[in-house]
Amino acid sequence: MQNKVLIIEDSRTAINIVVKLVEQADLVPVVSQSLTEANHLFMQSPPEDYLCAIVDYNLPDAPNGQAIDFCLDSILPTIVVTARMDKGTRDDVLRREVVDYIPKENTQTYDYLARLLKRLEKNKQIGIVVAGQSRTAAVRMTSLLRRHNFITYEANSAERTYQLVRENPEIRLVITGTDFDDVKSTTIISNLRMDYAKERLAIISVNTQEAQLSSARFIKSGANDFLLTPYCHEEFLCRITQNIELIENVEALTAMANSDFLTGLFNRRYFLNKLSGLAVQRGKRYALAVIDLDNFKQVNDTFGHENGDVVLVHTALLLRQHFADAVIARFGGEEFCVFMADTDAQTAVDRMESFRVKVSQQPVTISQTSINISISAGLLTAPASSLVNSISRADKLLYQAKNAGRNRIVSDIAFSRALERASQKTP
Ligand code: GH3
Ligand code: MG
Ligand code: MG
Repeated sequence: MQNKVLIIEDSRTAINIVVKLVEQADLVPVVSQSLTEANHLFMQSPPEDYLCAIVDYNLPDAPNGQAIDFCLDSILPTIVVTARMDKGTRDDVLRREVVDYIPKENTQTYDYLARLLKRLEKNKQIGIVVAGQSRTAAVRMTSLLRRHNFITYEANSAERTYQLVRENPEIRLVITGTDFDDVKSTTIISNLRMDYAKERLAIISVNTQEAQLSSARFIKSGANDFLLTPYCHEEFLCRITQNIELIENVEALTAMANSDFLTGLFNRRYFLNKLSGLAVQRGKRYALAVIDLDNFKQVNDTFGHENGDVVLVHTALLLRQHFADAVIARFGGEEFCVFMADTDAQTAVDRMESFRVKVSQQPVTISQTSINISISAGLLTAPASSLVNSISRADKLLYQAKNAGRNRIVSDIAFSRALERASQKTP
């Protein structure tokens, strides 16, 4: 578990601030006040346990960045903090392979450091393909990307690029150049774009100014962004981060738009979109249940709306556990829908029935009070002509379950069986 951050720093003020930032990023600060002390730390806990190091350029026993070299030799992504901002120091720091270089004791700087820490943590889950670059450019790019904890891949042909993206779902960015063995980079960009939307996979096209190809051509082929050589470290990394963050923001928005805020289950809209294509496929059997909590209004009236919410979350959790392979949505209020693909009638009835029993036997504890809850459900085992019609039929069955006294499942299994018998008779 790489959740520690090594801090090598001798100023008390700086230590206090950095420790707080590291903790705010949900990481564990490990402080040493000298290079010697840091050396000892690695004996207790190897460098692999650390996400990164935040190192002071000037320490009593390491006045000229020796602590930076020590961290880099241990292959730790290293962020340098320094009070000295003269050109000599800056050059001395940047000739080393550090993640970044930031001036000390300035609020904005520390803000930046906080964001950088979060980024380094997230980058560990993100793959980047460096494709069609010259040997030197590829080495330089991957070295920069690895310093920032990205998972890197290299490709020199179109086929290899497609294959990498296909086989590694964590790849969110392809950096294309012009050195491909087989086809032109614009072809690769447009081919990738056919299979992956801009919000799923970013493409940055890197080109030389002499290529005289207008950047618009790359954007028109489907690239998210472009970079002209020569570029500096900072520019390269800024573009990468910007494009990755855009994808992350879209992902977060999509997740929000598709799920129910309280329970995290899918919402009705997404459930319908996701399944309507699937459900109408002829010959595919499925079962669908509309589930509603019994007398839920009473729970709210007696224990308050907030505790009602706890009951809803509890029910959602039970649904997830019991129907792990199904698609589950909260349709609104205290109503849920479960879609079971490829399920025969009897199996669906058995699973629903055991869920009903489970809910009734697991009271929810709210402020030392145990609340018994139960559900009623309408279960459809013979799909109707469309998903919407199936839901409406299941709704009618649910209504019957409520009228018959609640805490029960009403299904159309008799109808399903009759259909089955009829289909067996016809040759
Ligand atoms: P029945 O057994 O017939 O289903 O009775 P019921 O009381 O469960 O059904 P009714 O439709 O009368 O009441 C549902 C209640 O659910 C009313 C509404 O205030 C409450 N409710 C709807 N959404 C939420 C929510 O997000 N949180 C909480 N706590 N309550 C909600
Ligand atoms: Mg209800
Ligand atoms: Mg209801």
